[in-house]
Amino acid sequence: MERELNFDPVFKMARQQFDAVADLLEIQGGERDQLIFPKRAISISIPIHKEDGSVAVFRGYRVQHHLALGPTKGGTRFTPALTLGESAALAVWMSWKCALAGLPYGGAKGGITVDPRTLTPAELQRVSRRYMLEMIPFVGPQTDIMGPDLGTNEQIMAWFMDSYSSHAGKSVAEIVTGKPVALGGCAGRRESTGRGAVFLIERAFNHLQISPQGGTAVVQGFGNVGSVTACGLAYRTGMKVIGISDQVVALYNAKGIDVAAADHYVAEHKSLEGFQGGEVISAEDLLTLPCDVLVPAAVERVITEENAGKLRCRVLAEAANGPTTPDADAILNQRNDEIFIIPDILCNVGGVVVSYFEWVQDIQNFLWTDTEVIDRLCRILESAFSAVIRRAKERNISHRLSALSIGVERVRAAKRMRGIFP
Ligand code: NAD
Repeated sequence: MERELNFDPVFKMARQQFDAVADLLEIQGGERDQLIFPKRAISISIPIHKEDGSVAVFRGYRVQHHLALGPTKGGTRFTPALTLGESAALAVWMSWKCALAGLPYGGAKGGITVDPRTLTPAELQRVSRRYMLEMIPFVGPQTDIMGPDLGTNEQIMAWFMDSYSSHAGKSVAEIVTGKPVALGGCAGRRESTGRGAVFLIERAFNHLQISPQGGTAVVQGFGNVGSVTACGLAYRTGMKVIGISDQVVALYNAKGIDVAAADHYVAEHKSLEGFQGGEVISAEDLLTLPCDVLVPAAVERVITEENAGKLRCRVLAEAANGPTTPDADAILNQRNDEIFIIPDILCNVGGVVVSYFEWVQDIQNFLWTDTEVIDRLCRILESAFSAVIRRAKERNISHRLSALSIGVERVRAAKRMRGIFP
């Protein structure tokens, strides 16, 4: 498996980031391998009957990075190009993220190599249920807890939970997070990643002593995370969202896009294509628009060596996982005083924090109010933000290195205390 992972571009990126942290923390040879390589990686075949009578087979993955702090936790993505390496990289980032927030989890990630938009609702249900059925021997509320990610949503989490529960012969709500509230989901979980990003963007502006009111924002990706972030920036902080995009189209409007209207449009049409709220521009130009905050909220590796020098934002808020390549990061680090980076494992941590709240509530059968959820979320975000900024300043390192090193240090300490068995 190690060989396969080392050839994957996304895993290579996670490895490169980790090596920089390992140099900083003076972690040597064997301990590096122990920290970076996943504990378990599962690859499965998922056959389903299509509605036209044919059989289609998809590949499914689940990678569980480490078990030193508790069960593993992580999203499930449905994307056609998903690989084992990408799943492993995302599981590794999830580990550092959970540790940064002080959650009792290791990281996990997985999904299916499928474009959900090409399936009928019945086919989507079949592929989702079959994925969970194949995973039953490897997951559990105290082993590995799944959640939503790219291409998955509350309905898919409900099917996962129902499939697992049917097999267990009882309702096991705590097997997945991001479920509908009516099935034991947590108030505000759907919005939590975007809300967290907005809180941290406000916090960054506050730190820089700039008012967000009237400032400009550009958001790449208009799914769960991107749309909630765009709406939060527009209606909570009073910023003008001048650019938005999805997989199909990028839109620009200097006067500000009506993001609530865009959200309604996407709910109906599944894409921003055809939305009249702005002029169509290229996906590349969207990222280099002059703005106060740029929020990549779509996929990995969109800020690269080619465009990093051209970014014209004051704050880069990485709501997506892994949007900036290490080469781009080196360029951005040289522009340290120009661009304030909120690194991914901090910027999107709100999602897993509220997933943790959901898991805790389901285990206890004791539900919290929206206010309690937001209050506890903000306290964790504040503490993580302060810790990252403090360490970056004290050690004269980037925000990314600071955030990653806090996470790695906590996982390393847990592994050392537990020791190697036998
Ligand atoms: P989603 O499927 O709801 O939305 C993804 C959006 O990105 C869609 O608008 C899609 O059209 C767009 N997109 C896809 N490829 C694109 C491309 N190449 N260029 C521009 N846009 C593109 O997914 P999501 O849940 O909003 O996740 C977005 C990112 O946030 C991912 O990196 C995910 O791992 C990360 N994340 C999500 C959560 C969560 O709670 N959902 C938590 C933490 C991190």
